[in-house]
Amino acid sequence: MIDRIAAALHRPPCDVAEFIAAYLRTTYKIVGRRIILADMYSEAALNSAIEVYIAERVACPKCGSCDTRLHDDVVICPCGRKWRSSTGTSVTRRHVCDEMIGDDQSIPMTT
Ligand SMILES: [Zn+2]
Repeated sequence: MIDRIAAALHRPPCDVAEFIAAYLRTTYKIVGRRIILADMYSEAALNSAIEVYIAERVACPKCGSCDTRLHDDVVICPCGRKWRSSTGTSVTRRHVCDEMIGDDQSIPMTT
């Protein structure tokens, strides 16, 4: 399901999965070519997650087009508008979490 949405939106499946998993406060795994959320969600919950994804990372704020492309972390619209798509809950935030956990473990409990 996520794979098809990603293809329709011209986004890498992992980008869509990261966002939706973060939005639904869950995790996901990639099994073969399919992306599976760790928990089951209703279609309504998934749809609202996808709507937020589109609003934040796909739809152009200037012309409203969804025919945009993601290059690194910048979304580019055919109308010429470009914007950073880092407003969401996506990849960067998870990396920050991982780093914080790593830091906690590596800090010696001395002094
Ligand atoms: Zn546009």
